[in-house]
Amino acid sequence: MMADTSKKISELRQDLVCGDWVVIAVGRGKRPHAFSGAPATFEEPREMCPFENFSGSDAPQPVLQSGSVSVIPNKFPAFAKGVCRVFSKEGPYTFADGVGIHEVFVLKDHARYIPELSLEEMSDLIRAYRDRYKTVSREECIAYVLIFHNHGREAGASIAHPHSQLVAMPVIPPDVARSVEGSKRYFREHGKCVHCEMVQYELVSKKRLVDENEKFVAFTPFASKIAFETRIFPKVHQSVFEMLEDGDVTLLAEILQRSVARLKKGLNDPAYNFFIHTAPVGDVSRYDHYHWHIEILPKTSVWAGVEIGTGIEISAIMPEEAAEFLRNITV
Ligand SMILES: [Zn+2]
Ligand SMILES: [Zn+2]
Repeated sequence: MMADTSKKISELRQDLVCGDWVVIAVGRGKRPHAFSGAPATFEEPREMCPFENFSGSDAPQPVLQSGSVSVIPNKFPAFAKGVCRVFSKEGPYTFADGVGIHEVFVLKDHARYIPELSLEEMSDLIRAYRDRYKTVSREECIAYVLIFHNHGREAGASIAHPHSQLVAMPVIPPDVARSVEGSKRYFREHGKCVHCEMVQYELVSKKRLVDENEKFVAFTPFASKIAFETRIFPKVHQSVFEMLEDGDVTLLAEILQRSVARLKKGLNDPAYNFFIHTAPVGDVSRYDHYHWHIEILPKTSVWAGVEIGTGIEISAIMPEEAAEFLRNITV
């Protein structure tokens, strides 16, 4: 029997930058509200919170105080001081010290999350991201600096008190390497930045547009890896996050906060991760073709056999439908 082709089961879409395929499985017919689960915010007594007191003798000493945000070294770092780029061998295998830096950006209040911050407090956070990026990326042995935020246990937040993190590592991570390679290839072939190309198209088409202001735009990517994925780009080409100007800090704070607030309001406070993808550390001219951005990834499903076995993610909503839903939420 012939399949009924009038009703599409799924669509394969290719990411313009890295070339990866994603699957949008629309045949499941899930409506936007069906992605809501139990709220991700969890309660933890203030007395148990490691981020309450920076004045005791064994308390961590902030490396930066940016208005309402304190930046401290991570107590359980994934990367730490060590011997830079000395590779050892075990039989056919290679290993080296995990040299780097791991810091935590602690927000002032125990139970006030990003959507509840004042614009000034949110700007303190963005400014802290940029200032630590600048300092840490100049340290010896650092090839890449990743700034990220986990919200909710399912997104990996082990402490309820709202906080972001920075990891600076001696290697360029694989996802970043592929994104950098992809944008370099596009630049060679088309003579322009692949991200600028997407930004300009999305601003005109408006199909996947979620939000914009004078300097930034937020949209759901054409090849969204997961449902309600949102990306924020500076409208004007900028390869490294630290190029963010003082005058643009508040505009970035505003659009990031609103994007997160939309998810919270529309999908009943889902767990999410966001991170900043920027050019690797080093000679800026080598990475001119790159365009920094923020990716926000809500957790509305888990990786199962197909995803783990293939690396292809299956999203159950069209990015256009997700964008329309998010766009219409008033925050
Ligand atoms: Zn706390
Ligand atoms: Zn660009």
